Amino acid sequence: MSSPEKTVVMVTGGSGLVGKAIQEVIEAEEGTLNERWVYLSSGDGDLTCPIQTSAIFDKYMPTHVIHLAAQVGGLFANMKYKVQFWRNNVIMNDNIFQECHKRNIKKLVSCLSTCIFPDKTTFPIDETMIHDGAPHFSNEGYAYAKRMVDVQNRMYRDQYGMKFTSVIPTNIFGKHDNFHLEDSHVIPGLIHRGYLCKQKGEPFQIWGTGKPLRQFIFSKDLARLMVWTLRSYDEADPIILSVGEEDEVSIADVAHTVAKALGFEGEIQFDATKADGQHKKTANNAKLRRYLPDFKFTPFEDAMKETVEWFTENYATPGRVRK
Ligand code: NAP
Ligand code: GDP
Repeated sequence: MSSPEKTVVMVTGGSGLVGKAIQEVIEAEEGTLNERWVYLSSGDGDLTCPIQTSAIFDKYMPTHVIHLAAQVGGLFANMKYKVQFWRNNVIMNDNIFQECHKRNIKKLVSCLSTCIFPDKTTFPIDETMIHDGAPHFSNEGYAYAKRMVDVQNRMYRDQYGMKFTSVIPTNIFGKHDNFHLEDSHVIPGLIHRGYLCKQKGEPFQIWGTGKPLRQFIFSKDLARLMVWTLRSYDEADPIILSVGEEDEVSIADVAHTVAKALGFEGEIQFDATKADGQHKKTANNAKLRRYLPDFKFTPFEDAMKETVEWFTENYATPGRVRK
């Protein structure tokens, strides 16, 4: 990315959790004078529509694309809307691949997820195992749509020599997340519910047994790693962007960390009638560590504190918090 001509990096899904974090990281940087960054939201056009997608490329003329836009949701949204998760993501991804190829985009980085990995597998999971068995039934619409991105990356590289690649983050959290009470991921959902329970003096209800294990990455850490991927990672094969296996936590641990950050001192209850989802998806970040042995992740409690502070400060401002 050091060519003299202007580099234009277009970030689809720029108004979401990860897009906003990338914007924060880029704006804090000095020395990116040769790069112009453009952050899209659905207000720029609907990426499930090929005509609108093409018009967006005409308007911004990107040289590089980070493709984040997706229908995204937690376990419970994935179980309810399997067809929409499949269709919207497959169509959006296909439109982006098509435009990036047609316009000879220099690099496309798309976003997969550790929840697309096989359900019945050995742990830890690495980048070579994406297609080795069916995903967990709860999110098969999303998982198969995302798996196809890896297939598309390989096919466009093999047939056309395109530099298309993908990253595989674990569960992400941070400012600008979707804090919907039912359809969000676990951390934003619990922050919102815990906040309301504290106000009402009610017990804090956690869905499921609290036993499943997850690795979480703070959106700002992921953003730094994705910017590195765009500039410096040249493989077509995906790379897992995750904290280490030793940083895996249980949902019960998460609930206690959320409660502490909120200053919630009441009772925490687990509702085992609700789904647990996949027990664990432990990912191996050895490949990332080979490239970036010294990368420092934000400690989980610090990242939670920053997220909760942002949520409570912005909760009452209309349009600030997606909920
Ligand atoms: P997010 O906060 O839900 O944001 C989604 C973004 O996509 C928003 O900017 C949204 O625009 C845009 N979008 C959705 N549908 C669109 C459409 N039809 N046309 C144009 N734009 C559309 O998502 P995120 O959590 O940042 O996720 C970013 C990427 O990371 C996704 O590819 C996701 O699959 C992946 N990922 C997420 C997680 C996680 O825990 N969140 C974990 C692993 C991987 P508006 O704001 O205008 O609606
Ligand atoms: P997943 O990692 O893809 O399964 O997605 P989530 O971020 O939705 O995490 C799901 C895990 O958190 C499951 O074990 C749920 O039982 C548990 N969980 C506990 N409370 C909540 C909640 O309020 N929302 C969500 N989405 N999950 C919850």
